[in-house]
Amino acid sequence: MTRRPGPLSSTLAKSSRNDGHGNQINNQILLNLPSHESETLIPKLEFVRLRVHHLLHEVGDPLKSVYFCNSGMISILSVFPNGKSVEVGLVGKEGFIGLPLLVGFRTAPTRAISQLDATGFRVDAETLISVLTRCPALEQSLQQYSQIFTMEITQIAACNRLHEVEERLARWLLMCADRVSSNSLPLTQEFLGQMLGTRRSSVTVGAGILQRAGMISYNRGDVRITDRKKLEDAACECYALMQRQRERWRRDAKPPNVR
Ligand SMILES: [Zn+2]
Repeated sequence: MTRRPGPLSSTLAKSSRNDGHGNQINNQILLNLPSHESETLIPKLEFVRLRVHHLLHEVGDPLKSVYFCNSGMISILSVFPNGKSVEVGLVGKEGFIGLPLLVGFRTAPTRAISQLDATGFRVDAETLISVLTRCPALEQSLQQYSQIFTMEITQIAACNRLHEVEERLARWLLMCADRVSSNSLPLTQEFLGQMLGTRRSSVTVGAGILQRAGMISYNRGDVRITDRKKLEDAACECYALMQRQRERWRRDAKPPNVR
């Protein structure tokens, strides 16, 4: 992790794409803030590098810090008492880790771990709560993201129950590629199985189907999407349904500073 404390430079403050310490801001919630809220929040953020499989929080942990995901991906996992876990959500540069705090809840109901090497902007929970009282656009953006995240985990829950492994794998790879803005995804089969809640052998079968159809190339620990259009056709309808709902809400939404 890298800590970059210090005041926000006035020159860089004019650029909402930089945190004032040379770290590019990719997080869409931060990028969309009005300038006066950006100037309030961004100097309080700490840029952090999260190695692959870094644990951000475990089930039941107090939410001491929250994260605006900036690159890479964070998996949200449901964890059972016997240790088994399955991914129920995926957070990229569109998102935020720490949603329960928005409504006064202080502990995490899920596990959050980084996938790939990730970066984020971290702030302690009390600071965020204090900033929210002065930043209505930030609060509204986080509430809107909370609804989007809930919509996605609802769809993924239905997907995990109803759809075939190769359809789910295609849907999941598309979601990952969107979040990291890359068609190259360094993911092992074991990890894919864990994320999809299925046996490694089922992932092998699913990945084989997609590879033989020319949609992906798969080598040990590395998945590359080679034909995105075909992969979208192979994915179950969940991917398109989630995209459509996000777009519908984007059109519905008032500008974030209008209440
Ligand atoms: Zn599905």
